[in-house]
Amino acid sequence: MSIPLLDLKAQYLTIKDEIDQAIHEVLDSSVYILGPQMKALEKEIAAYCGTEEAVAVANGTDALVLTLKAFGIGEGDEVITTPFTFFASAETIAQVGATPVFVDVNPVTLNMDLNQLESKITPQTKAIIPVHIFGQMLDVERVMEIAARHDLKVIEDAAQAIGAEYRGQKAGSLGHAATFSFFPTKNLGAYGDAGMIVTNDKDLASQLRMLRFHGCQTKYYHEKIGYNSRLDEMQAAILRVKLRYLDQWNEGRRERAKVYDQLLADTKIQPPGLDPLATPIYHLYVLRTEERSTLMERLKAGGVANAIYYPVPLHLQRAFRNLGYKMGDFPVAEKACEQALAIPCYPELSLEQQHEIAAIIKG
Ligand SMILES: *Cc1c(COP(=O)(O)O)cnc(C)c1O
Repeated sequence: MSIPLLDLKAQYLTIKDEIDQAIHEVLDSSVYILGPQMKALEKEIAAYCGTEEAVAVANGTDALVLTLKAFGIGEGDEVITTPFTFFASAETIAQVGATPVFVDVNPVTLNMDLNQLESKITPQTKAIIPVHIFGQMLDVERVMEIAARHDLKVIEDAAQAIGAEYRGQKAGSLGHAATFSFFPTKNLGAYGDAGMIVTNDKDLASQLRMLRFHGCQTKYYHEKIGYNSRLDEMQAAILRVKLRYLDQWNEGRRERAKVYDQLLADTKIQPPGLDPLATPIYHLYVLRTEERSTLMERLKAGGVANAIYYPVPLHLQRAFRNLGYKMGDFPVAEKACEQALAIPCYPELSLEQQHEIAAIIKG
């Protein structure tokens, strides 16, 4: 028996006819860049998230870079984010020339610790990038209140959280802007790279549309230095099919998470920590254990894929050594990096497989 962390082939087979047809329609139209599929996807994602605007770009990393640029953030500015996230959340801050400033995470949810956030704000701070880690939203309204007191922008990094909610409000609908990644393994994944920014700010959206297309509003008339960052028609057509299944798939992930929570209840394994006001979508089911390496060996021997998210907190990454952080600066994030382990959690995973996995975990 062998169980992967995510089974993209099994998912494809459930929607093969629709996907194949969507791809053939793009081939028949032979329009590949900045076409009707991308525009339709933008409308559908905006409607799904409950925002006025959505701007499609090449990937989730570019979504962050273009948003920071559109807000005029660069050299001399500071942007606050968390050290317990994928590298891109902070890499992009450095890419635009600004300085990433980290704040430790909440020990239960592993999202940014909002009790510590305000203490990191300085006169140089221009923005906050909270990350909805593993698909559980944090309280963006509270981040917005803090931001309002200091005139800061809030960019939700919702790369792992499309469809997640907080007090019934969707990820991406509460910040000044929010970014999504449709990398193939995200819970809404393309068959290549793709990303999106959502916002209610019309001016920001038009800036972003210029930035993704070489700074043009009209072709060959360049208003500013931009980028080449588009979501192509093939990926847009695929994502439009998959978006129709997203709620069903997210519900499937939640059901499987609940099964794990119950199966592992009488063990020393710590299940994902929840905020009672959040409705997570379990981009990953990440448990915590003090005996991670022995658990990993048992899972491997039993043919169950597993992965560490994340092995190194961002403040201790070599690429950020110039920032001068050291071990001990963010103890909660550091401890999470020693204990966190993702196990298979996706809608095609059977109850039988979950029982097998739980039996292996219990030893
Ligand atoms: C995946 C991810 C990104 C980057 O998205 P790409 O599409 O891979 O560029 C950014 N932030 C977080 C939290 C992510 O998980």
